[in-house]
Amino acid sequence: MEEKEKKVRKITHLYYSNPKVRESMIKFGKHREVVPRYFENFGKRPDMIQYSSDIIGLVKKGATSFHASEELWNEPLNLNSELSQEETNKLRKGWDLLIDIDSKYLDISKILTILVLEALEEHGVKNYGVKFSGKKGMHVIVSSKAFPEEFNGVKTKDMFPEWPRAICEYLMQQVRRDFNKRVSEIFGNFGMEKFEIKKEIREALCPNCNRPAKKGILTTLRCPLCKASIQRKDIKATKKRLRCTQENCAGILEIENEGEYFECKECGISNINKQEVSGRYAATFTNFAREERYSSELKEEYSGASFGSSDFVLVAPRHLFRMPYSLHEGTGLASVVLTKEEIESFEPKHADPLKIKIREFMPNNFEGEARRLLSSALEWKKSRDEIEKKTGEKKYKDYEKTEINSDDIKEEMFPAPIKKLLNGLEDGRKRGLFILITFLRALNFSGEYVNKRAREWNEKNKPPLKEGYVKSQIEWHLKQRKKILPPNYSNDGFYRDLGLIEKKPDTKNPIVEVLRKVRKFNYRRF
Ligand SMILES: [Zn+2]
Ligand SMILES: [Zn+2]
Repeated sequence: MEEKEKKVRKITHLYYSNPKVRESMIKFGKHREVVPRYFENFGKRPDMIQYSSDIIGLVKKGATSFHASEELWNEPLNLNSELSQEETNKLRKGWDLLIDIDSKYLDISKILTILVLEALEEHGVKNYGVKFSGKKGMHVIVSSKAFPEEFNGVKTKDMFPEWPRAICEYLMQQVRRDFNKRVSEIFGNFGMEKFEIKKEIREALCPNCNRPAKKGILTTLRCPLCKASIQRKDIKATKKRLRCTQENCAGILEIENEGEYFECKECGISNINKQEVSGRYAATFTNFAREERYSSELKEEYSGASFGSSDFVLVAPRHLFRMPYSLHEGTGLASVVLTKEEIESFEPKHADPLKIKIREFMPNNFEGEARRLLSSALEWKKSRDEIEKKTGEKKYKDYEKTEINSDDIKEEMFPAPIKKLLNGLEDGRKRGLFILITFLRALNFSGEYVNKRAREWNEKNKPPLKEGYVKSQIEWHLKQRKKILPPNYSNDGFYRDLGLIEKKPDTKNPIVEVLRKVRKFNYRRF
């Protein structure tokens, strides 16, 4: 037995024999699926706990921690992965909003949690529960009672995981700017060493839509003959011999300097201050959009999201999270409930299982408390989907036009990070599954093939994901009318953190490389 395991096993009996711990777990576990974990492996699903003695029995069998669903069920034991969506909805009583804040660094999780709580308050949600995840993260909960029973004529309870996902995404977007600011401050104060960061990850957020702005190169050119100055964005290397734009001048422009600029195309905002430039010398701006506006707020800061986030992909059917006051196998600490005021000064030693006091995790929400939050999130999601349709999807449309035929695609054409993924994972298996499904779907592989390949892959994971989870994820993706592209390589949470990237990929997105190869292949064939 490893040291870690010994350490946890030593305290499990004593810890779970505390009747207050068990009482709070039984109370929280009501209407939930509750599954024990036997240090390494989870118990069979579905399962639930009803009586204090159930916990003692499971601990005697070797259970070290307990995990509960954010979905609330009428009869948790009637759940099974064969149920249709309709049958599952029938069983579902409701869902709590569970925001899973995760980072490799406790300090970053603490910052993000406080920002998320403030965002909740700003939307009228004054009651919430917060707890330490047991390792480096935090869990925030808002009770199902806070949501209206129906919204836009739809039953709220049936909208899992779509609505809680939208809320988590929306909240992350709301706090993104402040999060970057706070993370940048920390780095300013402590330096990067504290965080063992090898590469700086920065982003500039659009002040209008809060999405990361595109970075480009702004080139200032000067005509050696007439001395006219011209500014141009993103000159292609092959087009560097530009003629002077002045009438009757035969000069060839020379590059005077190059600098970075940021721009949000959708909102028409950039950080190029034309007035300042033309104030210094007479300048002409070529290839600029007429309506482009200047904003000094478009500046680079550390990307908070690359150090920690609330991963909305994990708001998934039958997702489980560590119960309040469960132990954590990795640390031997308890998942303790905190108040907002305690977060900033919280340290792991405050979660010493033998010293904790039991508190209520479930907030006392009133009906409709989260109505404004829900409506804002859904409105935001709708408009963001429209923007993505215009931008990201436009690019995707080009791929669609080529009518990808999965018969043309051999696995040897897959990009290196995907091949590496296919060898199986130990950490980040859920994110790995997300990449794999979206990748195969984007390339038009059949549902049957996706099912087969995802399961073969899962066999290679250590340990494999639960069959029910894999199944529900695949089903969800196959149901989506709009295809979801795999995350871009720049999304470190997916590729870098899972150790899939060895050298910088040549393309933005894994499917681009495959499509290039397919085109070449077809070209040669005909
Ligand atoms: Zn914008
Ligand atoms: Zn000239």
